[in-house]
Amino acid sequence: MFTKMDRISRNVIDFLTLVEEFEHHEVKLVSLKEEINTASASGRVMTTIMIALAQFEREQISERTREKMAWRATKGLPVGPPPLGYEMHEKRYRPLPKEVEIVRFLDQAYLETRSLDQVARMAYQRGFRTRKGHTLTKNAISCILKNPAYIGKISFNGETFQASHDPIRDQKTYARILQSLERNWFHKGSGRSKAKLYEYLLQGLMLCGYCQGKMVPRTSTGRGGRRYHYYICNRADKTAGIDCGKNYLDAVEADHYVLDYVKQLALRDDLVLKLCQEQDTSFAESLRTLRRDQERIKARLIENQREAGNLARAIARMGPKPPRAILDACQELDREKAELEATLSRMGDEASKLEQTSMRVELAGKTVRYIAQILSHDRVTPALLKDCLPKFINYVIWRKDVKQPTGRVEIALFERPFRGNDGRLLREIVEDLECRAPTALGIPRLP
Ligand SMILES: [Zn+2]
Repeated sequence: MFTKMDRISRNVIDFLTLVEEFEHHEVKLVSLKEEINTASASGRVMTTIMIALAQFEREQISERTREKMAWRATKGLPVGPPPLGYEMHEKRYRPLPKEVEIVRFLDQAYLETRSLDQVARMAYQRGFRTRKGHTLTKNAISCILKNPAYIGKISFNGETFQASHDPIRDQKTYARILQSLERNWFHKGSGRSKAKLYEYLLQGLMLCGYCQGKMVPRTSTGRGGRRYHYYICNRADKTAGIDCGKNYLDAVEADHYVLDYVKQLALRDDLVLKLCQEQDTSFAESLRTLRRDQERIKARLIENQREAGNLARAIARMGPKPPRAILDACQELDREKAELEATLSRMGDEASKLEQTSMRVELAGKTVRYIAQILSHDRVTPALLKDCLPKFINYVIWRKDVKQPTGRVEIALFERPFRGNDGRLLREIVEDLECRAPTALGIPRLP
């Protein structure tokens, strides 16, 4: 994750020693940085476009095949690839004994434990995987448990039809499974709507220190109806801790931590500015070196053109048959010219990139001051905070200590802070807060 940050790391270490004095226990600032994988604007745009294209294509295909599939469904013929437990045989599903075993195991395990978490772990221990060899996620297991294909039906567009293949699960088992799943879903569902009462400030920013994947917000209800808000590694959550250790942390605590840290950082904008200046110096240095090299190459290019001109005049004087050596020299000069020009254009790109980066570094100082104003404003709402944080924080990594409830939070700042998703500038948000009529009693309105 940090491979491309070599140039910056030196500054970060300087910075870290600098910040140590005011640093709060586990929170660390990783880096102010210029670009990282999908976090860079262009990377994000590309992904979005690609997903949109893929979806468009899929919609077109589905449009074309919809009618044909509907017809097949009414005839009890398969409308898709066979689910786990079946194989294709003469255009129909046929039970596949070694996979039927898995389905039956899942049915039984679920009815015994009534817990997808436990079923996922039990299936994993038995060595059961998907056809592609992946871990069976809770979601995949839930799909298998709910699939009417196993009782010999075909479902299409919300309707079920009697199918022409043999069932591998009896009606009674299916009814019991559905009943239990529904009950669990009901509990979960009610928990989810209540979850809105808490605004997860770090949603979308929190990464798992083990697998570098996203951590997602979850709410659970403990004994006595107390609600717990936490972030959990998405991979850990989906696979009941199999593909990644069950990495989670208290959301309220984490939000507090990070917010507190950003506040302190904002108060010490002299430190942030020092970092910015150091980065600026380092960028300026690289830029100066680059410019020197550019000048050298330009000078060589002029020399090259002069030599080519001399040769051309010599050839003109020599009449129709100039010596081979002179023609070769001409060619060599041409080749060198193309090479020099390519190098120059590459250097130009690099220089403009460096210039842009230093400009962004300069803006970082301003951002800190805006953030400080927003954070300390008495009219700021959690929703607004949640909107502002991504303009200042690139990501937060939770590195849990092995076999201990403690860990480290790392915060990476970035300097693409001025435009958020809604295109609003931090400055505008500050101005907005300043001129908005005070709410009743001056208490921030919770969403
Ligand atoms: Zn993870």
